[in-house]
Amino acid sequence: MQRTLSIIKPDGVSRNLVGEVVKRFEENGISIIAMKMLHMTKAQASGFYAVHQERPFFGSLTDFMSSGPVVVMVLEGEDVISRYRDLMGATNYKEAAPGTIRHDFATDIEKNVVHGSDSPESAAFEISYFFNAFEINA
Ligand code: UDP
Ligand code: MG
Repeated sequence: MQRTLSIIKPDGVSRNLVGEVVKRFEENGISIIAMKMLHMTKAQASGFYAVHQERPFFGSLTDFMSSGPVVVMVLEGEDVISRYRDLMGATNYKEAAPGTIRHDFATDIEKNVVHGSDSPESAAFEISYFFNAFEINA
């Protein structure tokens, strides 16, 4: 069993896509073991995406991620890091496969509806960024 962090980004929340994203987890045998809504400050978004701080899109990305509420979830399942990334689709929605969340709903390379951890190490960092042990219903 593996865990990963999911974020429904501000565009997904404001466009009423929470149910659609959650439905895809439930239909694909991915368990939600923690979930909450919160609105990050610019500093909190910058800490979350610190790995990207030298990238040209960092300022815009952290403005976007702190522009409204997000839904953060811990997902659990066999091989869930890569299975969830497959469900999300490519970062650039124009390259995402039909049927993926980003292909079906993203409107921009930045406003791509969902985040997912990319490795066990980043999943551990990202889960602990938002959740303490009491909030995870294992
Ligand atoms: N992003 C962007 N422009 C780019 C690449 C990424 O605005 O050229 C944004 C996009 O929202 C993406 C996030 O930065 O989801 C993090 O980038 P990463 O390469 O980690 O993509 P992901 O892991 O989310 O697929
Ligand atoms: Mg990433």
